[in-house]
Amino acid sequence: MLYSLNEAGFEAFIVGGGVRDVLLGMEPKDFDVATSATPEEIRGVFRNSRIIGRRFRIVHVHFGREIIEVSTFRAQTADKIEIIEGKLTRQDHHIDAAQSSAGMILRDNVYGTMEEDVLRRDFTVNALYYTVRNFEVYDFVDGLADIDRKCLRMIGDAGQRYREDPVRVLRAIRLAAKLDFSIAPETELPLKPCAHLLTSIPPARLFDEFLKLFFNGHGYRTWELLNEYDVFRVLFPCTSEAFTGDDTYTRKFLASAFHSTDNRINEGLSITPAFLLAAIMWPAVRNEMQILARTDMPAPQAMIEAGQNVLTRQLEMLSIPRRFSIPMREIWDMQLKLQKRQGRRAETLLGHKRFRAAYDFLLLREAAGEELDGLGKWWTEYQTANPDQQAALLDEVEKRSPRAKSRRRRVKSRRKNVTPNPASSE
Ligand code: ATP
Ligand code: MG
Repeated sequence: MLYSLNEAGFEAFIVGGGVRDVLLGMEPKDFDVATSATPEEIRGVFRNSRIIGRRFRIVHVHFGREIIEVSTFRAQTADKIEIIEGKLTRQDHHIDAAQSSAGMILRDNVYGTMEEDVLRRDFTVNALYYTVRNFEVYDFVDGLADIDRKCLRMIGDAGQRYREDPVRVLRAIRLAAKLDFSIAPETELPLKPCAHLLTSIPPARLFDEFLKLFFNGHGYRTWELLNEYDVFRVLFPCTSEAFTGDDTYTRKFLASAFHSTDNRINEGLSITPAFLLAAIMWPAVRNEMQILARTDMPAPQAMIEAGQNVLTRQLEMLSIPRRFSIPMREIWDMQLKLQKRQGRRAETLLGHKRFRAAYDFLLLREAAGEELDGLGKWWTEYQTANPDQQAALLDEVEKRSPRAKSRRRRVKSRRKNVTPNPASSE
């Protein structure tokens, strides 16, 4: 890859997370390539490639099933970037670049030199360039020293860089959690004040970032940091409103949802964003349901309406694709269905395509302290029971069901009303 670009007369480097992770002894998720070739020139070198993106025009080069992202050296579009230790200077460019009135970069296709490309990257540890010309790592911003210090440091003025692209707030938190790095004081200080800027990011881009935040095996730590810097409440306003400071149920529930997602990822088990989304929004759905229940609305309808209300608000922030929001709502609806086990219902529920997720969800609720009359334990036993044992478990439900109780009461009261048999009273 790098060789092909070099042979065609271009500079080419591996840059970003790939170099960083190798230097840290971690396995890189992917490799990104930066080159002096323009997207059209890259396409000329690799037949199997496609130009994508509007905000950044990059080229996807396909190697079998793998895709490598190749981007052309770019210059920063904001003209106030700090000059680092007087090493680098930059000029203003006004070709194909756009900035919103709030200072946010909208389009950024100004091509530049490698030195300029360094300055538009976010953190020093992400701005290391590896070349196969002499197998060296180029470091203009002391990124290697920060790798040794395990420190995340923004290139330039952190506050300004967060304002240019507020997603960098999330990137700082995600990388600090994933790499177990500290955040340099000047990089950390503007995090909290910039958190609210995330409301200006398109919900589709935020959903992509949401996936990167929580499905890398470090979701729990990420959640802690998001709370620490007041970012979680910007991303999930409904959840935060439902979450008062001393609410140990919500804290425990969310903590175990993040832990269990991390554990599954680290054990190589399958995961679905629908489950975690259902969990994150659950505290809000549960609150809303309790409010609706006061209006005498039947529980199944209250669950549907509560889910709809919370989801509608959440979609203003994150655009959750329907392939996740539909199963998410099924997991919520199943919470009520799992209580109704009489007759053949339990057997039918067991075959439901959302049974497994809904059952795991139920266990989380109970583990966090919700009192559900042993429902989780019942389902745990029912799943592994033989037909006789299953019948016994169903009998137990039948005996304890409110309908069975009221039936017994009716029978008793009818007996009371029967006129005593004069013969027996004698
Ligand atoms: P990961 O391990 O998640 O892949 P990464 O640092 O490689 O982390 P990517 O999203 O793959 O993240 O981005 C590749 C590189 O592009 C980054 O290392 C960084 O240099 C640059 N970059 C990405 N997003 C931004 C941004 N919002 N602002 C500035 N530079 C960015
Ligand atoms: Mg990467």
